[in-house]
Amino acid sequence: MEPSSQFLVFGAPQIEEAEIDEVIACLRSGWLGTGPRVARFEADFAEHCGVGPAQVAAVNSCTAALHVSMLAADIEPGAEVITTPLTFCATVNAILHAGLQPVLADVDPQTQNIDPAAIEAAITPRTRAILPVHFAGRPCDMDAIMAIARKHDLVVIEDCAHAVEATYHGQPVGTFGEFGCFSFYVTKNVVAGEGGMIVGRNEEQIARTRILALHGMSKDAWHRFSDSGYRHYQVMECGFKYNMMDIQAALGLHQLARVDRNWQRRAAIWHCYDEAFAGLPITLPAMPEANTRHGRHLYTVMVDSSRCGISRDFVLEAMTTVGVGTGVHYMSIPEHSYYQQRFGWTPERWPRAMKLGRETVSLPLSAGMSDKDVERVIDAVREVIPSE
Ligand SMILES: *Cc1c(COP(=O)(O)O)cnc(C)c1O
Repeated sequence: MEPSSQFLVFGAPQIEEAEIDEVIACLRSGWLGTGPRVARFEADFAEHCGVGPAQVAAVNSCTAALHVSMLAADIEPGAEVITTPLTFCATVNAILHAGLQPVLADVDPQTQNIDPAAIEAAITPRTRAILPVHFAGRPCDMDAIMAIARKHDLVVIEDCAHAVEATYHGQPVGTFGEFGCFSFYVTKNVVAGEGGMIVGRNEEQIARTRILALHGMSKDAWHRFSDSGYRHYQVMECGFKYNMMDIQAALGLHQLARVDRNWQRRAAIWHCYDEAFAGLPITLPAMPEANTRHGRHLYTVMVDSSRCGISRDFVLEAMTTVGVGTGVHYMSIPEHSYYQQRFGWTPERWPRAMKLGRETVSLPLSAGMSDKDVERVIDAVREVIPSE
């Protein structure tokens, strides 16, 4: 046995022949940039979310999607945006890129999602937006969040990077707020290598995100190289270079077509883990809430050293030693030196996110995993974590 080739990589994408063929066809077509495949991917994604074709815009990352959404929402510079401390840095960085002020509201310890009561408590006269993250694929409490937004006249921008399959009371996440932002990064549930999608309630605002995502060039610029011939364009504002390529869409198209099949597979792995780890001195993910569909993006277990006898970091190292890759989602935002220095934040101010961030371990959960891979993860966890 060769340990190096046997290492189970965390978050390895499932790439099949359909997308490989599509990428090759795209290369052979000679049209690599934003073109017909991006248009098809947008149309398919709109259908997936049950929105109109003019309510989506493909970009090159979820970070870009969040950034231009906040700009298109026309929030005045320096206004406050409330988000969760238990998220990837991109959520907070996008707020900063948009010239806005991030304000953190602690999470619910069970759901790990932003706590609506903490949002209410964080509202000031300068608050203009709420940026909830559907963490690990679990939908946030959108009834409560939308009620707060209506009461205080706030924009809602949903970070759906983990949650392309998630629904809340039958409605896809990303369609509650003014904007929903999705990621097609390699470890996400639908993979395009890099990529993002904006879903918007308002077609004019989506049109604005398109302009912002392509140098601030007028709408027709997207089609300026089409077979209808050259068209002049106008630069309307100083935009960004955030467009998606057809090569990315070639991957995304077929990944999206398998989104339900892959979700079923991850749900099956999830249940195997739930059963296998029920007797261990660790905390397993909370049961999904009734009348919601959990995106099943991350299977996170909590290692409390006082209960488990070993630390979280020991578990991370021991899992690597036995050949299983793991992840940490996430050390809370105020654990990072940049935010500490810029805002004077300390992790203790958001104690629930701090505790979760210091105890959490994500186990491999990809549709590409075989039954044998699942067994290996289960055996590894049982080997590393002593039973009670
Ligand atoms: C991955 C991720 C992002 C950023 O996505 P990119 O497409 O890599 O820019 C944003 N928010 C969360 C919660 C993420 O996990």
